[in-house]
Amino acid sequence: MTGTNAPPAGDCQPTLDDLDRALEAIAQVPVLLVATDYDGTLAPIVNDPAEAVPVRESIVALRAVAALGSTHAAVISGRSLADLAALSALDGQVMLVGSHGSEFDQDFVRSLTGQQVELRQQLLDEMHRIAARDPRFRIEPKPASVAFHYRNVADPVADSAVEELLGGAATWADVRVKAGKKVLELTVVDTSKGEAIDALRHRVGATAVVYFGDDVTDEDAFVRLHGPDVSVKVGTGETAATYRITDPTDVARRLARLAGLREAWLAGAGAVPIERHALLADGRVMALVAPGARLVWMCAPRVDGPALFAGLVGGESAGHFTIEPAADSSAPQQQYDGHSLILKTVWPRLTVTDFLDCSAGRPTQRAGRTDLLRQVEGRGEVRWEMSLSLRCKLLIYFIYREVRGWEMSLSLRCKLPGTRLGLLHGLGY
Ligand SMILES: [Mg+2]
Repeated sequence: MTGTNAPPAGDCQPTLDDLDRALEAIAQVPVLLVATDYDGTLAPIVNDPAEAVPVRESIVALRAVAALGSTHAAVISGRSLADLAALSALDGQVMLVGSHGSEFDQDFVRSLTGQQVELRQQLLDEMHRIAARDPRFRIEPKPASVAFHYRNVADPVADSAVEELLGGAATWADVRVKAGKKVLELTVVDTSKGEAIDALRHRVGATAVVYFGDDVTDEDAFVRLHGPDVSVKVGTGETAATYRITDPTDVARRLARLAGLREAWLAGAGAVPIERHALLADGRVMALVAPGARLVWMCAPRVDGPALFAGLVGGESAGHFTIEPAADSSAPQQQYDGHSLILKTVWPRLTVTDFLDCSAGRPTQRAGRTDLLRQVEGRGEVRWEMSLSLRCKLLIYFIYREVRGWEMSLSLRCKLPGTRLGLLHGLGY
């Protein structure tokens, strides 16, 4: 028998298969928010920003996502809201947020103070002065900022202009700098895509968020994501995102897949009828086990306590504890041992025995303690996966008897930050 702990975060890059699995899991949360950047994410980067047309399949997928129940879609862009609405042709169902998270609606400009309006005009004048040296510079005025595009300008000229802006207007009081791909934006308000994500999450009550973005300003959004959220960087460059894909075409593919998964899950595809779950209990705590030794519900330290595993109602990311053969897709048999609440899940080469232990003949478990025992017997490779909501101190022991002439390997996949896993060899229990 061999065992390996899940690798610490950062030791290896998540693969596209990992991303597919993450999308599959997040498609099953109660309330989902799907948000993306625009340029470089929904639309390929082009020399003239006014010609940045979105990939059609992405727009179709976002509209499909937004039309589903308990599912919301948003595009958060550095562009002005009016520009974003015109270029994306998205309206109504898909929420649009412009100016890096500042512009939630067209009335935003009225919230600016007289000083901010004046400062923005000064920034605009200064950029026009610097841009006058080369007609290929492009100035993009926005309600609370001005963007200086230098994509089409030769490096020495562009570098000198950017240097002058960074050493001058960018240092003025109350001016903030946002650097993007061949664009420098100076703004008079202090917001970010991260704040926009937080506001949208709160507004729709999202259980989890998926965010796709390609630029430096999207990092503000990536660092706000946590728990079951999924962050996807588009293209190359340093990132705080967990996953990476190549280009807007890849974004379209993932959005379409997510829309399909979400629709199927909402329609009840793959849902296990409640009567097919088995109950474990110790007089204080109850747990539910779906066919396949898949523990999908358990609260602790009492039956009305917080849920450690809530996959039954919130999908995979809400917590489950699954033990199954890695190479056997046959349906197992599940039955209680006699008149007890000891549950056996049986495959041809593997048996998992589950119970909530009271021990020493007590009718109920002691207050504040829960012992979930899962005994694994058989041969071959075993897949072991645990994802839970950790609100209590947790100790995990792996105890196994040495079995001669049998071969068994245990692969661990665990999403428990800060929790240590280990194997105790040669102990009976
Ligand atoms: Mg972008």
